[in-house]
Amino acid sequence: MEKQRYERPLIKKLESSMPNKFGTRTEYVPMTHIDDVAVKDLIDKYESPLFVISEKTIRGNIRKARKAFENRYPKVQFAWSYKTNYLDAVCRTFHQEGSWAEVVSGFEFDKALNNKVDGSKIIFNGPDKTEEDIRKAIQHNALIHIDHLDELYSIQELATKAKKKARVAIRVNMDTGIYPMWDRFGFNYENGQAWDALNKIMRSEVMILEGLHTHIGTFMLSPNAYAVAAGKLADLAISIRDKYQHEVKYIDMGGGFASKNNLKGAYMPGADMNPTIDEFAEAITSTLINSNFKPDKLPLLILETGRALIDDAAHLLGTVISNKRLSDGRRTTIIDIGVNILFTSFWYDHKITPAQPFTQYTEDTVVYGPLCMNIDVIRDNVNLPLLNKGDHVVIQSVGAYNMTQWMQFITLRPRIVMIDTERKVHVIREKENLNQLLEFEHIPDHLKDFNL
Ligand SMILES: *Cc1c(COP(=O)(O)O)cnc(C)c1O
Repeated sequence: MEKQRYERPLIKKLESSMPNKFGTRTEYVPMTHIDDVAVKDLIDKYESPLFVISEKTIRGNIRKARKAFENRYPKVQFAWSYKTNYLDAVCRTFHQEGSWAEVVSGFEFDKALNNKVDGSKIIFNGPDKTEEDIRKAIQHNALIHIDHLDELYSIQELATKAKKKARVAIRVNMDTGIYPMWDRFGFNYENGQAWDALNKIMRSEVMILEGLHTHIGTFMLSPNAYAVAAGKLADLAISIRDKYQHEVKYIDMGGGFASKNNLKGAYMPGADMNPTIDEFAEAITSTLINSNFKPDKLPLLILETGRALIDDAAHLLGTVISNKRLSDGRRTTIIDIGVNILFTSFWYDHKITPAQPFTQYTEDTVVYGPLCMNIDVIRDNVNLPLLNKGDHVVIQSVGAYNMTQWMQFITLRPRIVMIDTERKVHVIREKENLNQLLEFEHIPDHLKDFNL
């Protein structure tokens, strides 16, 4: 029998005013394995901290999402939102599952081309497309989603010069009952800007209006907002049909479905509260089916879902550096995961689970990262069992935005591995090293030497 670990006795204040029906306790069992691979082995081999992506979960998520929509609507196409996670291994997993690419910059466009996505299956969104980007997009027959009139006129000019037709859609923003409205992107529906832009496209000889696009927000908790948005896009499509006898090929509802993460300040866990993909699918598809499209003329429905498909497919493994008491007596645990690699800790209460067995004693704890910076807080209050130096933790649902918005700050960024569906582990991004960073820097001659 293994020797029991000593833990000091603990006197604990009873929190009679806390909401004890759901409690503050987050975890009862350790997370020792991810997809049957031992966390300890992963850290021994690939070091800590370490991002671990589950290919199985990605494939499961996209298949479930496709099913939710395809069961309800005849023509559905997903396009992977590159900015949510543009690691090539992740993008290619989605492309293998049939997803097109959705990009918001020239850099992301090139990344999609480099991943062998045919230009005609790249959706180019975003407010900043340079002339070079637009030229390239026209050349590759990409779908250009126009954000503003200056872009519309640039496309007119560049397509004319290239003697090639540009395939375009407009991004529409609208009041869906969710505030603040994301009206800085695209053309507004209510004030007539969207209709104006559509008429300008329809009278152009060099632009083909292929579709209508919206992206109403991110981490949306209201399926009904999508129903309102789908209704407004359907109205625009039908107005175009009636005025020009032109049928748009698709309606693109963007991304934004909430993942199962816990928003800071939410009373109940995201897994219990946030709408499911089926609820979003029901809201969108029933609106389109109930609108005035002829049944055999329903447009293709495109979804650019990012966050909801990747968040729970990634875990971040880390190691305890030390424990301390704050001046008011609160327990703090310092781990080797900082906000520089876990950007989303600013708005999520990420679930943190010990990676080894623990006893029943728990204590409210502040979890700090390793950075020499006061804002480096991973959890400002979490009920955790006692963790010792060298113990491992698993932070769950970190797949969306962290591996694109992370910063090289104070420390170098860690490795990322993917566990494939046969439980084989692949390094899909190496850890950074000093020499790589120094390659970007130049030292002027007069600063090369000094005497201290
Ligand atoms: C960011 C973005 C997405 C993906 O959003 P999620 O919230 O990750 O689902 C989709 N479309 C556009 C235009 C975006 O900017």
